[in-house]
Amino acid sequence: MDKQVKDWSKAGPKVPNQEGLFIGFFAGRWSFLLTKQGGPVNGQTSLEHALLVARCTPETADAAARLHKTSDIRYGFKTGRCAERADWAQIRDQLLWEMLLEKYGVAPDSDNDERRLNRLGLIETAPAYLEDGNVSCENWLGNCRCPKCERELGVNMHGRYLMAIRTKLIENMSK
Ligand SMILES: [Zn+2]
Repeated sequence: MDKQVKDWSKAGPKVPNQEGLFIGFFAGRWSFLLTKQGGPVNGQTSLEHALLVARCTPETADAAARLHKTSDIRYGFKTGRCAERADWAQIRDQLLWEMLLEKYGVAPDSDNDERRLNRLGLIETAPAYLEDGNVSCENWLGNCRCPKCERELGVNMHGRYLMAIRTKLIENMSK
């Protein structure tokens, strides 16, 4: 966590989490929202890991799945050991959505104690706007705030899907 705070200060203006209104970076009590936290997804150690493996071509996915550290898979992409699927940009939204349904125990037969805690935590974020703020130039899942990305508004697909799932969960509670 200290590292993340340090990264943010390096990135220039920090967007504070405004209690109840805006959660602009997933840290502290909200760190379970990070893709690398919150437990196994799709047979991998985390949602982040599952996404990286899914991003690989069928030929390199097995090798990627055997790399336990996500940093190793990222290195694999750099060195060509892992290769990105040509259709990744077309399939990634749907895959992210399905993986999030699993992480929050909403997909059929996906619930367990850890996912129940994820779910309760997600409900607790309401009604704050969720944005997966980062400094790693990740502008699909979130919104990078490094100086290089200053003019690029991240898609924040992760944050948007989290809010959509949260809305579903809250609607179900009142039924
Ligand atoms: Zn950036």
